[in-house]
Amino acid sequence: MIPYGRQDITAEDINAVIEVLQSDWITQGPAIGRFEESISKLCLVEHSVAVNNATSALHMACLALGLGRDDYLWTSPITFVASSNCGLYCGATIDFVDIDPRTSNMDMNALESKLIKAEYESKLPKIVVPVHFSGQSCDMHALHVLAKRFGFNVIEDASHAIGGQYRNKPIGSCHYSDITVFSFHPVKIITTGEGGMATTNNSEIAEKMRLLRSHGITREAELMINDTQGPWYYEQIDLGYNFRMTDIQAALGASQMNRLGAYINRRRELVARYDTLLANLPIITPHENPDASSAWHLYVIRLKLREIRPDRRQVFESMRRLGIGVNVHYIPVHTQPYYYSLGFRPGMFPEAEQYYSEAISLPLFPTMTDQQQDKVISALKDSLV
Ligand SMILES: *Cc1c(COP(=O)(O)O)cnc(C)c1O
Repeated sequence: MIPYGRQDITAEDINAVIEVLQSDWITQGPAIGRFEESISKLCLVEHSVAVNNATSALHMACLALGLGRDDYLWTSPITFVASSNCGLYCGATIDFVDIDPRTSNMDMNALESKLIKAEYESKLPKIVVPVHFSGQSCDMHALHVLAKRFGFNVIEDASHAIGGQYRNKPIGSCHYSDITVFSFHPVKIITTGEGGMATTNNSEIAEKMRLLRSHGITREAELMINDTQGPWYYEQIDLGYNFRMTDIQAALGASQMNRLGAYINRRRELVARYDTLLANLPIITPHENPDASSAWHLYVIRLKLREIRPDRRQVFESMRRLGIGVNVHYIPVHTQPYYYSLGFRPGMFPEAEQYYSEAISLPLFPTMTDQQQDKVISALKDSLV
């Protein structure tokens, strides 16, 4: 089976991990700082905070922005459930904004209409979470303008998008947002096994996130409420969590960062090849906006169902039978049973649901060979008839 995504672990990665295992620190040691530094350098951002996964990073980001019970968080329905669950963890109310069918990212016109209505009803969101689907940035400039006009905070879910750019700035620079979150799950662009990172230019938010990552405990005298009782002394000044990343993981991440550019280049090459070789099939290939440079986490095609006999499920099952590990990203979050219990119903976000009936993710990973890709393409051709 050719998988839809696959991590690449080299001898250098393994040696970096072994070095940590033989050192004095295997968690919250010097490798964390090195990994955070490499992300800050790449993203041209002031602060990077490493955590155990992107779900924690989103949760911590919401808490750092003060999201609570009386608040609303909005995101896209075409995402992994963590993009909205983070709001539920804080007791907030979730809502979604339908997608732009060209990019599968949040539709900024739909967002504006919804904000105007919400303002009228005094239900404006405290936080909006744009998801850079498949690695392509949302229209962050338009979002930024709306954020200023309606007074909400922005957390970018860039789980797909490390190494991508928007208007010639790296994703993660937080030029148009308060916080950006990355995931290092093995199917993502670079991996730490499990892992996540939050970036920000706001030092107060960064400090708050560092506290929340580690139980709300500080050892810094200037943050303490009381006078120190001795060199052992620490204080819990907030209710935090254990969201820490290990040094073992951070060493792997820092080592993977050395190949990020090469990974993105190979992904681009494979995407260009897919675009050319799939051009005349009854499918829609991904659209890349002129002001975005995608990190190409996913290559998602949409079937032109009116022009072919099989439906999405039949094409999917045929591909799997032919040894191609296709996947579907994502089942619209509002159609999940848990979200049904919160009041969401099918039909609420028609573009997302239409997308879902047509979408298939084809295999794409940096170590994929041209021969493997040819096999995917020929299996797709066979599966569409
Ligand atoms: C993978 C992913 C997450 C969650 O990342 P973890 O590191 O697995 O917690 C969140 N949002 C999106 C869009 C993702 O793809």
